[in-house]
Amino acid sequence: MQVKQSSKLTGVSYEIRGPVAEQAARLEAEGHHVVKLNTGNPLLFGFEAPAEILQDIVRSLPASSGYSSSKGLLPARRAVVQYYQTLGVDGLDVEEVFLGNGVSELIMMAMTALLENGDEVLVPAPDFPLWTAATTLNGGRPVHYICDEGSDWYPDTADIESKITDRTRAIVIINPNNPTGAVYPPEVLRQILEIARRHHLVVFSDEIYDKIRYDGSAHTAVAALAPDLLCLTFSGLSKAYRCAGFRSGWLAVSGPIQHAENYLEGLSMLAGLRLCANVPAQQAIQAALGGYQSIGDLVLPGGRLREQRDRAWEALNAIPGVSCVKPAGALYAFPRIDLDMYRIHDDERFVLDLLLQEKLHIVQGTGFNWPRPDHFRIITLPYADELEAFIERIGRFLASYKQ
Ligand code: PLP
Repeated sequence: MQVKQSSKLTGVSYEIRGPVAEQAARLEAEGHHVVKLNTGNPLLFGFEAPAEILQDIVRSLPASSGYSSSKGLLPARRAVVQYYQTLGVDGLDVEEVFLGNGVSELIMMAMTALLENGDEVLVPAPDFPLWTAATTLNGGRPVHYICDEGSDWYPDTADIESKITDRTRAIVIINPNNPTGAVYPPEVLRQILEIARRHHLVVFSDEIYDKIRYDGSAHTAVAALAPDLLCLTFSGLSKAYRCAGFRSGWLAVSGPIQHAENYLEGLSMLAGLRLCANVPAQQAIQAALGGYQSIGDLVLPGGRLREQRDRAWEALNAIPGVSCVKPAGALYAFPRIDLDMYRIHDDERFVLDLLLQEKLHIVQGTGFNWPRPDHFRIITLPYADELEAFIERIGRFLASYKQ
């Protein structure tokens, strides 16, 4: 008899590592070199973790072999509190900071602790698809609000408003955004928060790319704009600190926590259920947040990430029938393919064929809960010359789809 997966998994997917990634792994097993343009994994493209973080982990390794408290090491949680103080978040307490095995684990815990079956969560489209998956997996209903490509991919606040029902519990904001690269100005954030305020929504703010901004602007922490709202701010070491494999992230709960004691107890209980986060990786948080912020050198003019972002954007827009909003932050571009020009009905098939023919692995736009098969996401991590060459190959491959 076949062992079947639980019906809880119905409608749950994560296409960044989905069936196309499985095909990529098969190709690699056959000896092909596959270029992984699908995951924001900085080390694969020569972005090593800052030396001071590595040294700190190595130095603290002998003392890290025991469990920590469930919420995490106190010095690391203090460092998180201090970091948000510098961003203008007042009143955050170490007791409301939870460390996790990456933001991913904390997203799952935050949803598990909150949702009743049928509760609705407003999630951006396109989104980082774990947000949609975590909602569904926990019995919730993801309701996607549109981000407007014609307005630098900012959330369409009228669309958000129109999708609120009496079951809406929370709204997810991803800023800077994966996959679009949008960085929302404070006034856009204020408009979203005003809606959250009027409808008593919990705010989930995913700010893992807060230090990867190409315009030199200061990051606006959502929690600083809304001290009156229950805000859960998520971030970690995977991106700006190039430590994705260590699995280290944090969740900071701010706002009127006196009205969320029961929810916080639930979060604490879930933190205890998984005992604690990887302890060596927790050690790295203090070194990361307190130390020299080398990511600044990579994103400012002349920096490697910025050059790659520029060259990717130019190369994508040079493909006939492809247009791309210039990413203002994060590690991705999310270009549009003109379907009047190209015959693509199934974008998963398109990226699979690209993989089979060119050995380039990108992710289809529908994998980010985008409603039409007319986008894809590419990472901007490879060296600029290579990245440009990969994009030119995508352009030549795309030409075979001309109507
Ligand atoms: N949030 C966003 C927007 C991401 O892009 C990612 C990873 O790509 C994550 C969360 C997960 O990060 P972590 O490695 O901390 O689990």
